[in-house]
Amino acid sequence: MSHPLVVRVGPLMPFLEEALVRDHAAPSLADVGDHTEGLTVAVAGGGTLVGAAEMDALPDLAAVANFGVGYDNVDVEEARRRGIVVSNTPDVLTDAVADLSVALVLDVLRQVSAADRFVRRGEWGAGGRYPLTREVRGSVIGILGLGRIGRAVAQRLEPFGATIAYHSRSPKDVPWDYHTSPLALAAASDVMVVLTPGGASTRHLVDAEVIDALGPEGLLVNVARGSVVDEDALVTALEEGRIAGAGLDVFADEPHVPPALLGRDDVVLLPHVGSATVQTREAMARLVLDNVAAFLARGELVTPVA
Ligand code: NDP
Repeated sequence: MSHPLVVRVGPLMPFLEEALVRDHAAPSLADVGDHTEGLTVAVAGGGTLVGAAEMDALPDLAAVANFGVGYDNVDVEEARRRGIVVSNTPDVLTDAVADLSVALVLDVLRQVSAADRFVRRGEWGAGGRYPLTREVRGSVIGILGLGRIGRAVAQRLEPFGATIAYHSRSPKDVPWDYHTSPLALAAASDVMVVLTPGGASTRHLVDAEVIDALGPEGLLVNVARGSVVDEDALVTALEEGRIAGAGLDVFADEPHVPPALLGRDDVVLLPHVGSATVQTREAMARLVLDNVAAFLARGELVTPVA
C-alpha cells in the first residue's frame, strides 16, 4: 500500500472530505490500520478529540489542521511536546458566529422563539396576549471574551442602541467599558454574551457566583463552549428564578441538552450552529485545505494557533 500523507480524523463535511480524498487520497483514521508510516497531516473535524492516543496512533504526525477556530478538542500542549504544529480556521467564520450571537441576544430579550411557540400552541388564537418583553436599546450587553467574534458582536449591537461592556484577560483599545473580572462584568450587564475559547483555562468561568451577579433580570448567551458555563449551576439558577433566561448554542455534553431545559420557555436552545452557513462552512473547509497544502509544500501552516 502506498502511504498518503494526509489522514481524516472524525467526521468531516462532505465538501472537505471529498477534496481530501480527491487531492490527497486521504484515508480515515479508522481505515489506516497499521499503515501509519508517512501520515503527516491529520485533518480533524470540529470537536473531534485529537489527544495523546490519536498522536500515538500516527507516529509520523507533524501537523493537525483543525476545522474550527476553537481548538479545545486538540491537546495543543501534547502536540507542542511532540513538535506537532496545529492550525485552526480564524476570521472566516467571525461574521456568521457574530450574526448568530446577535440573533440569540435579540431572542432572549424579545422572546422570538417563545412567542412563536405561544402562537403554535394556539394560545394567541384562543385570545391570549403574549407578555411584554425587553428591548436592546438601553440594555448593557457585556461581552465576555472580546476577541474577533466578541468585537464583531459589539459592533453589530451598538447601532441597536446597546451600551457595550466587556471583560477579556487584558483591556483592549476600544471605546467600551472594561471590567476586571467576569463577576464585575456580569454585575454590570443586562445580557452577558460568552465568547471566550473553551478548554481548561476557561472551564466554569461563568459559575454560580457570576450567574447570581447577572441577577434575576439578567440574561446569559453562550456561543463559546459548553465548558465555559457551569451548566448545572445555570439550570438551578433558572429553576430558582435567580436569572431571567439564557440563549445557548453550546452545551457541556453535546449533543445532550439537560432535560430540565427542554420544557422551559425562558431558554433558547440551538444545536451548535454558530458557524453553520453554506458560505462559512465552505470558507472554513477551503482554509483547512490551504493549511494542508501549505504544510505539505513548505512545512508551514497558513493559520497556526499561537
Ligand atoms: P479570539 O481568540 O479572537 O477571542 C477570544 C477572546 O477570549 C480573547 O479576547 C481573549 O482575551 C478572551 N479570553 C481568553 N481566555 C480568557 C479568560 N480566561 N478570561 C477572559 N477572556 C478570555 O477567538 P474568536 O473570537 O475567533 O473565537 C472565540 C471562541 O468562539 C472560539 O474559541 C470558540 O470557542 C467559539 N466559537 C463558537 C462557535 C459556535 O459555533 N458556537 C463558532 C466559532 C467559535 P485576551 O485577548 O485578553 O487574551
